[in-house]
Amino acid sequence: MFNPVSCTAMAPLQLGIFGAGQLGRMLAQAALPLGIRCVFLDAVNQSPAAALGPVFSPDDMHAFVGQRRLFTLEFENIPLSSIDALPEAATIFPPRAALAITQNRLLEKSTFDALNIPVAPYRAVHCLTDLQNAADQLGLPMVLKTATGGYDGKGQYVVKTAHDIARAWETLGTHGPLIAEGFIHFEREVSVIAVRAQTGDIRYWELAQNHHHQGILSHSVVPAPNIETLTPIAQQYMQQLLEHLNYVGVLTLELFVTPEGLLANEMAPRVHNSGHWTIEGAVCSQFENHIRAVMGLPLGETDLIKPCVMVNIIGQYPKREDILALPAAHLHDYEKEERPGRKLGHITLMPPKSEELPALIKQLIPLLPDALALK
Ligand code: AMP
Repeated sequence: MFNPVSCTAMAPLQLGIFGAGQLGRMLAQAALPLGIRCVFLDAVNQSPAAALGPVFSPDDMHAFVGQRRLFTLEFENIPLSSIDALPEAATIFPPRAALAITQNRLLEKSTFDALNIPVAPYRAVHCLTDLQNAADQLGLPMVLKTATGGYDGKGQYVVKTAHDIARAWETLGTHGPLIAEGFIHFEREVSVIAVRAQTGDIRYWELAQNHHHQGILSHSVVPAPNIETLTPIAQQYMQQLLEHLNYVGVLTLELFVTPEGLLANEMAPRVHNSGHWTIEGAVCSQFENHIRAVMGLPLGETDLIKPCVMVNIIGQYPKREDILALPAAHLHDYEKEERPGRKLGHITLMPPKSEELPALIKQLIPLLPDALALK
């Protein structure tokens, strides 16, 4: 018989989260009404999740673990050695093996290959000669990426001409193993987010269409338009991944839409920025369902309530009262210090009549200091 890893009814429900950024904050916000308290491990003490629970330093792993038995993460690049430092009785979801794969773009790509999930053509790059060969074989432009540690477009170099090859190597050559990918002239980018419970039960949210500006997600439109034929394919790729990885929790798969069909770009073993709309826009959010899955609880329904648009607040905050004066705008302030290119919060627009969305977006644009990609 299946025995979910869960807290006993007698013990206070407690969850340890690696990382204390805004994703940890929103996980803890979703956990609270379920009677689940979160604690965090992060090198930064003044982090967004600190309002929701104690943040322990990595030097204080012992206190972070305490009597807790269940752990999860909000940031995939935590060192695997931190997970290995957990006591034997502890369980972490998503599983360690899934993390090891998603921490390395080369392993990730070979996992997609093994499951026949189409990806951009790619080559592993360990030296300048590899890079030159990759340019010959893939053609230019191509995208050179660090295999580990990159996020929000960081650790990437678009090699446009033969002159860029040496410069790209100078820029990224010392950053460990690299991957060169053929440049995909995609029509648009979408993401599929799903959750898998300890029982193997899987739920999918509606696909989001994602718009980036300078490598950072600017906004997500839900549902992504014209995705009737793409949705079952995206969900099938997701199901293959979730089952192959024996995954528990929320997994995100970013996809390019091309004239030839969907190509997988990358996956994130966690709740994802392109799923923030689910807080107001879905019956059960990605955050709540991740908590439910990790804690061995039944999953909630993922149905879309209403079409919506999620807009990131980047670099500089708008005036709170201006945003709240908009009809049907939900503000999420992560309480971070302003810094160019930094995600400080998000706004979900979800008017009662979805025809009102374009007008509402027009009203929002002048209120945001950095809304270039929305214009
Ligand atoms: P990533 O960190 O892999 O998600 O890449 C960040 C962004 O760079 C993606 O959302 C795309 O807009 C763009 N990008 C990444 N890989 C490619 C590629 N092979 N071809 C074209 N654009 C890419």
